[in-house]
Amino acid sequence: MLTGVLFYCLNLEMLLESVAMDKDVDIDKVVRQHLDMEQFFAGFAVKGETGPGEPQEQEDNMAVAEKAGELEKMADEVRQCRKCDLGSLRTNAVPGEGNPNARIMFVGEAPGADEDAQGRPFVGRAGQLLDKVIEACGLKRSDVFIGNILKCRPPENRDPRADEIISCLPYLQRQIEIINPEIIVALGAHAARTLLNSTKSIGELRGQFHEYYAGLGRASIKLMPTYHTAYLLRNYSPENRRRVWEDMKKVLAELGLPIPERSKK
Ligand code: SF4
Repeated sequence: MLTGVLFYCLNLEMLLESVAMDKDVDIDKVVRQHLDMEQFFAGFAVKGETGPGEPQEQEDNMAVAEKAGELEKMADEVRQCRKCDLGSLRTNAVPGEGNPNARIMFVGEAPGADEDAQGRPFVGRAGQLLDKVIEACGLKRSDVFIGNILKCRPPENRDPRADEIISCLPYLQRQIEIINPEIIVALGAHAARTLLNSTKSIGELRGQFHEYYAGLGRASIKLMPTYHTAYLLRNYSPENRRRVWEDMKKVLAELGLPIPERSKK
């Protein structure tokens, strides 16, 4: 309990430090929003039987170890990669991480400053909110795989350029092929448009399943686009928060997993 309180205080302190630089930011409002968001995604529990449900199938340990080995080999390639200009600008490449046998794969846009510093995906504020969303689903971060379209941080967090996406996308495609998830959750417009080869807005794409074309001779994979958690933090509203939760409930239902309900306190 004490650890949790300390962790929360550290998060809040980091948040306040990050907004204190900007004089136009209403710190009280940001703190209220942060608390509200934390509480919303923290208040869920599975009723009746507990646990996130059984894995898709009992693949033997050899097969999982083989997948983990292939992913690690590819991650080493990414760490050496200089196929686009971002390779010379990064501190660390961020290949992605998680369960090699994941049923759900989250795909974001590109690493930010925290991810670049640590070489791990979704570890900043947006990552902490993604952790909350995953927990609200009755899952753990270690149950899923988390990656990005680009494996290196674009300067000043600018949008990915087409040439960078073309250079980097084969890594993600290979990860998807190795993991072979049942569902991909595309976080934000860049991930959704790239994986669906679409020009539609995230508002048009989200809320329904699409098909990710996995290549010749391979079955397509269901893809749910939803808002990026960074967008959720920037454009906080109960409506946007509810939309993400509705999207995730559809993912859980599709996988046959129990849908946690908000506990009554
Ligand atoms: S962004 Fe992708 S293609 Fe570009 S250097 Fe990094 S790993 Fe290589």
